[in-house]
Amino acid sequence: MLDILIKNATYFDEDFQLTTGDIAIKDGYFVTYDGQEAAQSVVASDKTWLPGLVDNHIHISQQFLQGQLLFQRPIVWQRINVPFEAALDEALVQLSTKAAVATMIKNGTTSFVDSGCPKALAMVEVLDELKIRGHIGYQTADLIPFETLKTTPKAAFDRNLELIKVLKDNPLIAPILGITTLPATTPALQENVLLYGKEQQVMTSCHMNEYESEILTTIVETGLRPYEYLEKIGAMHAKFLGPHSLFLSENEKTIIQENQSQVVHCPFSNSAKGIPETDALLARQIRTYLGTDGAGHGGLDMFREMRLFSAKMQLHAKAKGDYALVNTRDILKMATTSVEPLLGKIKVGYKADLISLDTNNLDYLSGKVDENTLIEIAKGGHVNDSIINGDCVMRDRELLTIDEDRLKADLQAYQKQVKTAVTV
Ligand SMILES: [Zn+2]
Repeated sequence: MLDILIKNATYFDEDFQLTTGDIAIKDGYFVTYDGQEAAQSVVASDKTWLPGLVDNHIHISQQFLQGQLLFQRPIVWQRINVPFEAALDEALVQLSTKAAVATMIKNGTTSFVDSGCPKALAMVEVLDELKIRGHIGYQTADLIPFETLKTTPKAAFDRNLELIKVLKDNPLIAPILGITTLPATTPALQENVLLYGKEQQVMTSCHMNEYESEILTTIVETGLRPYEYLEKIGAMHAKFLGPHSLFLSENEKTIIQENQSQVVHCPFSNSAKGIPETDALLARQIRTYLGTDGAGHGGLDMFREMRLFSAKMQLHAKAKGDYALVNTRDILKMATTSVEPLLGKIKVGYKADLISLDTNNLDYLSGKVDENTLIEIAKGGHVNDSIINGDCVMRDRELLTIDEDRLKADLQAYQKQVKTAVTV
């Protein structure tokens, strides 16, 4: 017996070519359909299915900074994000988690990689209830002036140990051990988090090469560029994720490539910082993804991130006297694959995370629907259904794991407190 069957579905295949066929799901995976009965049948008419989008760099606990960061002067995380997070209690973290996940699902995101929350364990219960896929970890720094957020190498080690233990058998949520940045952490903390994560073979992460000034600080302190420093201390490995990675030397690209590490760009957040050399990273077969960097930089709509990224890549190509150095399918792959394996394809053997777009919408009816449409026309508001790990979490835009009215009421009730926190 199948869990879900979508008969005669119009969907984007593994090469992002539009095709028609039956989509069968069982135990969280796409399976072959050969006439079995299904517990649930989904009507496929007027919908176009595609792999669920992945936000590969989000700050769930910064949801209430929505709309407040994009126009701020640098360095934003030092002046705003970290002070804001230092003021969060567990109840606000949980409400922020609900708001972020509800917004992600409504916009077609089916999994995420969080960049660290001050109270990571508080998120687990909420995430289990909401049935989204993701990686979570702690916001970790010991050279910051905020006592409620600052940690020590020993405390960071202990809480990561607990996090790995708590998430050991979790079907959808995995740990990621990260540090905030190199300049915000001591070598002892870097070692206790990054080397321990590598030893445990879990994902590790650090904001990398986001600001030129931070690169210079690392050079002044260590004589090395950031990725060279990580290589020297033994922190590079295939499960290291470097968010941003905007300004990379040729040697740093080689280090990422040789370690088979992974990088993620955040188009809106990176706007005032720099344009990455994504074409060079893809040419080296470096696994490169897209993310939002949280709601504060431009919302949580990955379709918008893809569209902006496409424009930036065209500008980048033009500056080099060329065109289309990164094409539509490259961008779609960057927004549908992740550090989590077996995502990004509606294909037998892959994890069943997929969404449908209402292509009966006026926006789509004047022309051909193809892979370019997903970049040029589609937006979060067009997402109709969402299935994560074979479970339907949104049907006809109705959230099934979250009481949306209750969430809205809770957000309104907290609004006054939230505004106070933001203006710290
Ligand atoms: Zn970030």
